[in-house]
Amino acid sequence: GPSGSGKTSLAREVCDELKDKAYFSISTTTRPKREGEKDGVDYFFVTKEEFLKDVEEGYFLEWAEVHGNFYGTSKRQIDKALSEGKIVFLDIDVQGHEAVRKAYPDVVTSVFVTTKDKKTLIERLKKRGTETEESLKVRMINALHEMKKIPEYDYLLINDDFNEAKEYLRSCALASLIKTSKYDLD
Ligand code: 5GP
Repeated sequence: GPSGSGKTSLAREVCDELKDKAYFSISTTTRPKREGEKDGVDYFFVTKEEFLKDVEEGYFLEWAEVHGNFYGTSKRQIDKALSEGKIVFLDIDVQGHEAVRKAYPDVVTSVFVTTKDKKTLIERLKKRGTETEESLKVRMINALHEMKKIPEYDYLLINDDFNEAKEYLRSCALASLIKTSKYDLD
């Protein structure tokens, strides 16, 4: 979902509440750290050179340029969590969704998170106070491109009431564990 939709807060809270059942994938990024963000908690913050080295070494399951910065999902941690039967939360953009769905077609359940209208999205982004006028513009233009991909997702979650949205996301997460494609029926 677009920046400001609340997807990170939703995914993190639901993942925390599911405790040992779930694992939250911490991405690597070249984006500068925002105030209050912690390395190894919110992201692994690296330089562009370090990121490209990881790309070369095949460290990422997928990576993409989003809003002018690089973001990537490390493969090893995810495979480990999946082998332990955990729900793996990926907070990634539409390009990442396409790549991960290709890599794990039987496992992926996707949820597109957005606000009820454009006005709310702008208000939330401004209130977050993390963006400059310029990056706000970039994120709003990208939001429109991202919305076009909604039909590729399994679920569309309008994050109006946070607690209600959390309930829905939790249901999607739990249902993802019992997809028939996840069982070895033989
Ligand atoms: P932000 O800079 O606001 O934290 O994230 C910007 C966008 O990048 C969000 O849409 C977020 O979901 C996406 N993103 C974060 N990590 C990854 C990742 O590992 N891969 C991809 N493809 N997108 C990511």
